[in-house]
This record gives sequence, structure tokens and C-alpha cells, in this order.
Amino acid sequence: MNLHWTRPWQVAMEAVTLAARATRAVQWELVTADTLEKKDRSPVTVADFASQALVCERLAGWFPDEPVVAEEDADALREPGHEPLRDAVVRHVAIAHARSGAARARDVLAWIDHGNALEPNARRSPDRFWTLDPIDGTKGFLRGGQYAIALALVEHGQVVLGALACPALAYPDGTHPGTLLMAARGEGTWMYPLPNPGHGQAQLARVDRVANPADARFCESVESGHSDQGQSAQIAQRLGITAEPVRMDSQAKYAAVARGDASIYLRLPTRADYREAIWDHAAGAIVIAEAGGRVTDIAGETLDFSRGPRLQRNRGIVASNGHVHDAVLEAVGAVAGTVAGAGAGAATARP
Ligand code: AMP
Ligand code: MG
Repeated sequence: MNLHWTRPWQVAMEAVTLAARATRAVQWELVTADTLEKKDRSPVTVADFASQALVCERLAGWFPDEPVVAEEDADALREPGHEPLRDAVVRHVAIAHARSGAARARDVLAWIDHGNALEPNARRSPDRFWTLDPIDGTKGFLRGGQYAIALALVEHGQVVLGALACPALAYPDGTHPGTLLMAARGEGTWMYPLPNPGHGQAQLARVDRVANPADARFCESVESGHSDQGQSAQIAQRLGITAEPVRMDSQAKYAAVARGDASIYLRLPTRADYREAIWDHAAGAIVIAEAGGRVTDIAGETLDFSRGPRLQRNRGIVASNGHVHDAVLEAVGAVAGTVAGAGAGAATARP
């Protein structure tokens, strides 16, 4: 089905836009020098729950029968002593709704719970479901870097629609602070300005044309625990890449490749037993694929979103403009020792 500008497209776009506004409001109000210094994570907790409540409220209203697999569950907000946190979430949901006071705590908790369609250890997913990361890149959110609200619709293990809101990734013409990327299978990837997607003409996102890997720029996580930066440096060297890696938090890395700011995104496992969460990759993967690029795991396998909340059949991520993909996979194989099924962590023992 052609999903461009259909009801699911419009609902997804509106939902992540609302959530992005709420996260920005929380950031202005609650991320302070004080919370930063104390490494107090409460602002991101408030933003995370408010974002999930807002997106799930829209999905539950429009598509009540479609399951949602989201990162957060509301139990933490129900614990005694957590009332101030819960009140802050409810207040921010109400503000984003622009009908202050209308959201009640009970409703907000129920919307958040709507996002728990699968058990954490489930191994099979419904034929059609939504997956949401209400704030991807929580560290980026706290330090004023990149973060994303990532929503995707999956059918039979394949992503068919993605909405990736990057509130801190400047719109290409520099006139707006954020970028929303919308992609539907076979319909391309479209960019809109944030916080107001209506302010400006949508632009098609396209990957760059870099064909010689040595000319490529690659991006990776800021967090060395999320991707092996030692291995990525060796891979870059093998490919003759001299440009420094672009380090950023969240699925903004997928956005960067989709619009040609970088040619490669590497995510190399740091632990043999880690399985990527589907909400960390679903929206990003379709955004790159529809912009003309390619996304696989480190063994070159297609991502399989049909196996519960985790990508059980995949290890790590290699995303690129497509042109350099095979060369990158070869270098990853040589450095990380990937044999299909074995995984980099298992094949490279490091101290
Ligand atoms: P990033 O901002 O790209 O570094 O990725 C943030 C995401 O990394 C979070 O949403 C987590 O779900 C995920 N994550 C947590 N632990 C790991 C790990 N050991 N390896 C890879 N990803 C992880
Ligand atoms: Mg995440």
C-alpha cells in the first residue's frame, strides 16, 4: 500500500511533532546547570514519559487495534514517592495538548501503558504493529546534543513507515532548529522543519554520491559503550578514510546519512550478548533506505523486525549511502571478524 500522506502518515507526523514540542519544553524548563551538575536524570524521565503518552494517545485514538511496542512502561510513575515526577509528566502532556488541565494522571498512565504490547522477552511480533522510542539518545538530550523521537510502522517484519523527529538537527537551510524526516516504503524520505513542519516546503532527502570509501565521512555513537570506537577507527583506516568520525547521539545518525551529511553509520557491538532494540533502528532504517541508501547488520544481513522487541537475528548495524556498502562490509568483516551468526563480540576477544 502507498502510505505517503495517508492517515497513518499524518497521524505519525502529528504525533512525533507534538512529542518533539513537549521534549523541547521540558528541556528549557528542567535541564538546568543544577541538574546537569548533579547528573540528575529526572528531566529526561519527564520528557520520555510525556513523549510516549502523547504519541500513544494519538495512536490509540486513531488505530485502537494496532499494537504499540514502545520503550517505556508507566510502573515507575506509580511508585509511592514518585508523585512529583508523575505530576510533571501530566503537566507537560497537558501543555503540549494546549488544553491545560484536560489530561488526568489516570489517562496519561493508560496512554503510556498502551505502548507495552509485547513482553520484553517475546520472540515473535504481531503482523502489523507500531514501535516507538519516545526519546532516543537520552544522554544527548541532557547535554544539549542530538536526540530523536522515533516512530515506525512494521508489517511482516519490514518497516513500511517511519517518522523521525530530530529537534536539535538544524533544517538544511539553517532557518529552523530541527528536522522531521518522514519515509514510506517506495515513496522516498521527506524533510520538514521543526518545531513547525507546516512552516516551509517539504524537501526530499537523498544520500550523497560518494563512491570511493576513502572520501566518506562516517558517524557513530558518542558513547563508546554503544559502539566499538577502536574497531571503527581500524575500519576507517582500512578504507583509507582520513576524516574524523562524526559522533552524535541517537538516530540523528540515520538522518545524517539520509540527507548526505555523512556517508556511513557504523554500530559495532561491544558485547557478544547485546541485541539491538527495534525502536532504536526501525524509523532510522526506512529513512535511509528511502533516501537511496542501504541498511544491514554487520554481517550484511537484512534487519528482521519480526522477532519481538529485539533484533534477535542481527548483530550491530552498517548503514550507508549504498555505493560504499559492500566495501564497508568487507572492511568490517576483516576487522571485526564477522562470520554470519557468530557476531563481532564473539569473534574478537579483547581485554
Ligand atoms: P546512541 O545514541 O546511538 O549511542 O544509542 C542510544 C541507544 O543505545 C539507547 O537507546 C539504548 O537502547 C542503546 N544501547 C544501550 N546499551 C547498548 C549497548 N551495549 N550496545 C548498543 N546499544 C546500546
Ligand atoms: Mg533509544
